[in-house]
This record gives sequence, structure tokens and C-alpha cells, in this order.
Amino acid sequence: MKKRLYLLLFLICLMLTGFTQTIKNYHSFFAEATLRNQDTRLLVIRKYNQQSKLFYLAVNPSTLSVCIYPERKLIITSDSIKSFASLFPNSTYIKAWRMAKQFEKPLQDAGISHALPDRHGVILTIDLCPSLKPLDRIFFLGVMNQLDNIQQPIPITISVSGLWILRHPDDLDWLKRLDAQNKISILWVNHSFHHFYNKNLPLYLNFMLWKKTNVEEEVLLNEITMLENGITPSIFFRFPGLVSESKVFEKVMSYGLIPIGSDAWLAKGERADNGNIVLVHANGNEPLGIQKFIFILHQNEKEIKKGDWKLFDLRESIIKEAVK
Ligand SMILES: [Zn+2]
Repeated sequence: MKKRLYLLLFLICLMLTGFTQTIKNYHSFFAEATLRNQDTRLLVIRKYNQQSKLFYLAVNPSTLSVCIYPERKLIITSDSIKSFASLFPNSTYIKAWRMAKQFEKPLQDAGISHALPDRHGVILTIDLCPSLKPLDRIFFLGVMNQLDNIQQPIPITISVSGLWILRHPDDLDWLKRLDAQNKISILWVNHSFHHFYNKNLPLYLNFMLWKKTNVEEEVLLNEITMLENGITPSIFFRFPGLVSESKVFEKVMSYGLIPIGSDAWLAKGERADNGNIVLVHANGNEPLGIQKFIFILHQNEKEIKKGDWKLFDLRESIIKEAVK
């Protein structure tokens, strides 16, 4: 019943956004490519049709950035392969992917959950799990208030679920505008489409470990929803509740994605030290976490003003960690 409701909601939103934006034939497709008239080598990870045109999603294996390319801009230099890790084996991307794989076992916080312990500052990650409440815009305004004119744009990682996107078109537009205005620079992370949660189930049967979870749908439908709403998914994935086990973890990684945990979930009482991947929720459901983060910014105000304490880009921090 609940699933039908979600499907109906999804279809209504598709109608509102216009069928012309609908993505078709979206699937994993791993191949090496170069940008036409350039030497830049890329790893293609997805292939799809939109408005009768063919598009690829490709990751730069050195910078970890992901971009959308129309067919005419790329030259595919290898056939689609099953084992993408065999391409660019010494690249930062594959090193980071393997680094995450080493930490696949924990029930909570598997994947990469720490970076750059020796630097002053943290990596801010914000989860937007499904919620009926509006976005905590005041939180973003508070962060900008502390860091404006010091860091521009301010690097922020946002893990987003498809159901949040479909229910919050105005809030999503507001975030996209801040990004376009160069006030913040958002790295969008896949946080699954449905983000199943049942407060009565133990962790090992909850979130994506729920027995009816369709991992492919959670990963790919969320990417489709992100793309159809004008945001490009990064190469990272955050498990709902940070909960996973080896089988589901490996399945998610088989899409070429790098799972990201957190070593400072503020509302759970964890401290934010230098190099931590801090987790807060700005979906209206966790005021404590966002209050604590604003307090941390106030505590470090002097260092921030001197440029000695910063928010770091997740990609840059992981690159440094992967190649050290
Ligand atoms: Zn979540």
C-alpha cells in the first residue's frame, strides 16, 4: 500500500516536472572514454536517454568529480566491461574505492568515515532523509553567516533521498540557487530512493537491510530522480542510518559507488574533531545536530576569521587520504 502511494507520488511529480525531462533506459555502463579534442580520460559509469538523446555519466578518476556528457562530447575507447576496477587501477578513484571496501564489515558506519586528521576543520555532510517538514534553511544561513567572505563557495556535502526531492521542490530550488550563486558548493550524494525505516525493527533488519529492499531500485531510481531534478549525483553513496552489511555493501559498490560513513554524528553525542566527517540532518527532524554544529562554528570563530579552521571538500579530503 505504502509502495503504491510512493509510486503515485513519483508519477504526479513526473507530470509536474514535465515528461520531456523523463530519463529512459538508465543503467550501469562501465567504459573508458576521452573528451573529444582533449586528453582527459574518464570512466563512464552510466548510460541513458533523455529527450531522445543519449547521455553518459562519467567520473574523472583523478578528481572524483562526476559530470553528464552528451554522446557527441565523448569518444568511448573501450567496450563496456564488467570489472570497472580493472580500468585505471592506479587512479585515485580506484584507490578510494578499494579503501572503502576494506571497511565493509561494520553494521554501522562502513566505508570511508574519516579523512585528514591533521588539519584544522571538518567535512560537513548533511542528510536529507524523507521528511514532511521543511528544510532547515536557517541552518544553511547560519553556516553562511559564519563563513561568508572567508570561504567562497563553502563546500557542503548533501546526501539526498528521492522521496525528499519529490516532496520539497521549493527547498531543492533554494539550495540549487545558493549553489549557482557560488555561496555554497554542493556535492550531491545518493542516500537511496525510499530510505526505508521502521522504528520497531532492530538495525540488522532495518534501513537497506529490510528484507524487501531492492538495492538496484534504491541506487538507480535515486540517481534518475536526482538527474531529472537538475542535480548530478557524485561517486559517493551514504547508507540510510549508516547501516549496511557485506552483501548489500558490495552490491552498492558494484555500481562503482564509494560508501561514506561518519565519525561525528553530532546528535548522537559524538564530538567533532579535526578531520571528522560530521553528520547532521537538516530535514527538520534533528534540531540538536544542527544547533551543535552552529555552536562549533561559534567556538572556532577566531580561527575561522584567520583562515585557520575550514570546512573541507569531501572529494579533496578523500583524494589526500587515498594517495598518502
Ligand atoms: Zn538518512
